[in-house]
Amino acid sequence: MNPRRLNPCELEIDLFCNGIRLDPSCTLVEDARKVSRTRAGLGSGLEILIPGDRKDIWMNVPVEEDFARKSPYLLRKQGAEYLVQDERTGWLYSVRIPVEPAWYSKRTTKGTEMGRVGVLQGTYLGIYISNSCLYWYSDPSQNCRFCTTGSNVGVNEVATKDVMDVVEVCQAAKEESGVTFVHFNSGYQAGRDLDQAAPFVKAVKEKVGALVGVQLMPTKDLWKYDWLIDLGADHFSFCYEFMNPEYFARYLPGKTNTVGQKSYFDALEYTSKKLGKGAVSGEIIAGVEPIEDTLRAIDYITGVGAFPTVCVFRPVIGSDMENHPSPKYEEMRVVFEHVYEACKRNAIPIGLAPNIEVSLICQPDDTRYLAKPSLSTWLYEARLSLMRRAARPIFRRKLKPHRIAADATTAPAPC
Ligand code: SF4
Repeated sequence: MNPRRLNPCELEIDLFCNGIRLDPSCTLVEDARKVSRTRAGLGSGLEILIPGDRKDIWMNVPVEEDFARKSPYLLRKQGAEYLVQDERTGWLYSVRIPVEPAWYSKRTTKGTEMGRVGVLQGTYLGIYISNSCLYWYSDPSQNCRFCTTGSNVGVNEVATKDVMDVVEVCQAAKEESGVTFVHFNSGYQAGRDLDQAAPFVKAVKEKVGALVGVQLMPTKDLWKYDWLIDLGADHFSFCYEFMNPEYFARYLPGKTNTVGQKSYFDALEYTSKKLGKGAVSGEIIAGVEPIEDTLRAIDYITGVGAFPTVCVFRPVIGSDMENHPSPKYEEMRVVFEHVYEACKRNAIPIGLAPNIEVSLICQPDDTRYLAKPSLSTWLYEARLSLMRRAARPIFRRKLKPHRIAADATTAPAPC
């Protein structure tokens, strides 16, 4: 371990790898957002904010897994301030703890508790359209081996969402928490995935005015992506998790048997071409397959104009992989430095959209702290800064509710 002080992104990576212990001085019940076991269980940590000079970093730190109990990091409260103490080096890092939004406990017109419809993950609103995933209901179960969704159905969230409930929650999140991005996600729905998402996408665009992302199982009916784009989808992400086909098959039996790895690549390439550079992402897990495969995945994703969403593997309690070791910091730092370099090499616009901070991953924009000083870095950063300014009026327009002509109830016939 390097005894020098870590920059905010390095601290984020090390906390993802080691987790954190909680000192009795912490009063998180009053001060923090409640731990929410959504998103395959990845939201099982504590939301914190690491301040930085380039940007603040939001992250969800593991606290309840075994490896977190042995962490060299300790979170303690001193007066009103929260400090992360690295007990190996003595360094102290000041962090902020985001409070639970008041709207979580409000109810929709239909009486649904809003926090059971959607939750903030960083600064964006994550909504599981349906958190029942059919992989959990086959015999033997075909669930992804790192996932705990099957044990969470209906526990923290309403299992299937109602469109008007979702609209009201999005409105509250926008008004009270400044949310700009709503992300719809779902487990495997046997080919009905995109059809189920359509009414939600349209309703948010028409009645709320927010950027909308969709993360579903890929379909071979690529024309359905055109339909969702017509309905207002701004972003697609594809969780293919592992580049190495052997790891894909070993840890993702359901995805292997129903859609296959190639469908992810086809959908990623198709939507990236349609929406343009930096609008689509490929989601992978780092720390399980060999690092060379992870680096290859990052090169592939950025090579097709998308951005890499890299999750540091978390052995979530209750998952089949709960005893798999958490990754090593040194390897993960190499991965995230590579994320920056690959985005730079492929001129991927990162960090353009307003107020989208994703706490479950180390996002490409965070890796700017790992950039090696060089002329190419300076030119890339200058370009990003110009693009950020040019994009402002476009995002302002997108954040206003507007009429969508396309019909969300029936998918149009393929051309
Ligand atoms: S597709 Fe995999 S990761 Fe997603 S909910 Fe189903 S089992 Fe979990």
